Amino acid sequence: MSRPVEIVEVGPRDGLQSEPGVLPTAAKIELIERLTDAGLRRLEVTSFVNPKKVPQMADAEAVLAGLRKRDGVRYIGLVLNQKGFERALAAGCNEVGMAVVASDTFNRRNQGVGTDESIAAWLAIAREAKAAGVRAQVTVSAAFGCPFEGEMPVARVLEVAQRVAEAEPFEIAFADTIGVGVPAQVSEIIGRAREVLPKTVQLRAHFHNTRNTGLANAYAAVDAGVSALDSSVGGIGGCPFAPAATGNIPTEDLVYMLSRSGFQTGIDLDKLVATTEWLQQTLGRSVPGMLVKAGNFPKPASACAA
Ligand code: MG
Repeated sequence: MSRPVEIVEVGPRDGLQSEPGVLPTAAKIELIERLTDAGLRRLEVTSFVNPKKVPQMADAEAVLAGLRKRDGVRYIGLVLNQKGFERALAAGCNEVGMAVVASDTFNRRNQGVGTDESIAAWLAIAREAKAAGVRAQVTVSAAFGCPFEGEMPVARVLEVAQRVAEAEPFEIAFADTIGVGVPAQVSEIIGRAREVLPKTVQLRAHFHNTRNTGLANAYAAVDAGVSALDSSVGGIGGCPFAPAATGNIPTEDLVYMLSRSGFQTGIDLDKLVATTEWLQQTLGRSVPGMLVKAGNFPKPASACAA
C-alpha cells in the first residue's frame, strides 16, 4: 500500500475545547504555527460556537486574526449553525466544517435543535459557502454510537450522509464522537458510504481513543477508502458527553503508523514530536500519545547507544 493520506489536525479545536483551563490565545497561535511548520496543511483551528457553552473557544476571531496565513494551508473553523458560519467567514477561515449528529437526541443536546434542522442549516451554509468561494465540508457525528440512543443503525447514518450529500460537498466525514467504534463497524460504514455516496465526495474519518480502538479504526478507515483522517497532537481532548473519554487519536502516533505502513502524509515526524513536547510543557502535564514517550523508530544511527 502506498498512497497519500491527508491528516486534518484537530487538536487546537477538539483537543483544547476539553482542556480544564483555557490556553492563552498566543499559545494557541504558536501551537498552530508549529503544527504547520511540521507539515500539516489542514487544521481545525477553532470553533465558532456559543462562548458561554464553550469558553475555551471564545477567542476564535482573535486566533484567526493572529495567524500568519500560509499558502496551501486550510484554516478550518467548525460551525454548528448559520451564525457560526457567518462568524467563520468574517474571521477569514478558508474552509468551514459543519457537524450534524446522526442521533437526534445528541444533536438536540449539543446543538439545541434536531438533526433535521441541522441538515437544513447545513444545506443553506453549503450554498452560501460556495457563493463566497469558501470550501465547506460536513461531519456526520456519533456515527458509531450515541451516549443517549446507544447503537446507531447503519441505515440511519447513511440516510443522514445522503441527505447532507445533496449540497455536493467535496468531503463528508464520519465521526466516532464518543470513542465506541470498532474496526468491523468502520469497514462497514465507510464501505457502505463509498457505495451510496457520489464518487465525487471524498471521505474522512474522526476517531477518539476512549476505548483504545482509535488507531485500529483509523487503519480500517484507510483500508476502506477514506482519503483523510482527523487526529489531535498528543491525543489531547475528550468529549463533554462522554465521561472519561480520552482525546482524538494522537497525530504523531498516527503518522508513525501510516508512514511505516507505506502511506505518505507529508509530515515531519521529528518536528511534530518536538511540538508535542512543547505542548506538554505548555499544558503542564503529559499527553495521552505514546510516540512522544517511546520515541521514533528507527532512530538515526548516531543516536543508538553502543
Ligand atoms: Mg471529536
